[in-house]
Amino acid sequence: MKRLFALALCLAAWTAPQRVAAITGDKPEFKKLADDVYVYVGKRNDANALVVVTSQGVVVIDTGNNQPETRNILKHIQAVTSQPVRHVIITQDHGDHVGGTPLISPPATVILHQRVAKGWAEMKPHLVKAWRKRFPERVQALKDFHPADAAVSFSDRMTLRLGGKVIELIYVDDTYNPGDIAVWLPQSGVLHGGFAAYKERHPDIRPDYSHGTTWGMLKQLEALIPLKPKSVVMSHGPVGETRDLQVMVDYLLIARQRVRGMMEKGMTLAQIRKEFHMNEFKDWDREAHLPVMAATIYRELRGEGPEVTAVVEKKISGKILKIAEEGRYLTVASDAGQQLNMRISNATDIEGIPDRSHLKVGMRFSALYEEQKERNETLEIKIEP
Ligand SMILES: [Zn+2]
Repeated sequence: MKRLFALALCLAAWTAPQRVAAITGDKPEFKKLADDVYVYVGKRNDANALVVVTSQGVVVIDTGNNQPETRNILKHIQAVTSQPVRHVIITQDHGDHVGGTPLISPPATVILHQRVAKGWAEMKPHLVKAWRKRFPERVQALKDFHPADAAVSFSDRMTLRLGGKVIELIYVDDTYNPGDIAVWLPQSGVLHGGFAAYKERHPDIRPDYSHGTTWGMLKQLEALIPLKPKSVVMSHGPVGETRDLQVMVDYLLIARQRVRGMMEKGMTLAQIRKEFHMNEFKDWDREAHLPVMAATIYRELRGEGPEVTAVVEKKISGKILKIAEEGRYLTVASDAGQQLNMRISNATDIEGIPDRSHLKVGMRFSALYEEQKERNETLEIKIEP
């Protein structure tokens, strides 16, 4: 960590590198990074996946942003090998990285950090139900299946050796790491940097620490940079190299220093959320993450644990008014005349349509949701015919 602080002192001299594109293309890409190593670069900064082909089966690292992406990843794999997918490795337990798992496993084994495995073992019934239904073509295969059934977990490091290929799983411990890991291929110099690796996209760091903390990200980056990877697959964004991990360190140090400076001036959290900027990284994607990140850093610097909000479950029926990001975000009007923002995640149990991309303005629905400060989390939604 010492080196990180030394760097923080010379931030005044830091200038953002010139870049051309701030987002990945409108279509996903499947690219060879090294012999038997392929990356699936998500469209428009969707989650990425990494694929390692061995004579003992294929290993898939993260599973695609949405159902069509997972099917697409498998199609690309089948075009380069006749080997079956034998292992799925999850770098972070969020829907856009995990959601494709039910298409591949079983029979593939899923490798998780033990903190994630614990969560899977305790998965709520409505989530298990949504898991089994996520891919209509898999409903029969997953009839009595529980997501934890095919999972194996590790605590610190794990090395997977398959057909002469070495795959190292790296966990960097800190109190609030939710179980995020990196995956290192020492023979080809390819790294999947997991949650700590972003390129040209503001990280999604939240006050509930569900994505860890900026401190934890710095600790992970400090462990990954000395590996000197030739190629770095980011959790989101274009493929990068070692220097992009260093850019992320600089980014996080600037962000932390900025919030600290505002706190020293006596600004309130509301003021900090409003004034906080990352103008050194102006053309990065997802500016909406910035106030939420500022609020997270504020908690971290005050030495506070994760924000805990009491979960209140509510029912609603009404009509869809607005849809954003392929069904991920809805604005709805309830029959009682209330307007509400709702998030449809990969874990939402959806009835009446195949998946969230089929949602349309004007559809009538009933739903069960968790009331949240930022956006209500939909547990179940039933679209009326
Ligand atoms: Zn993600």
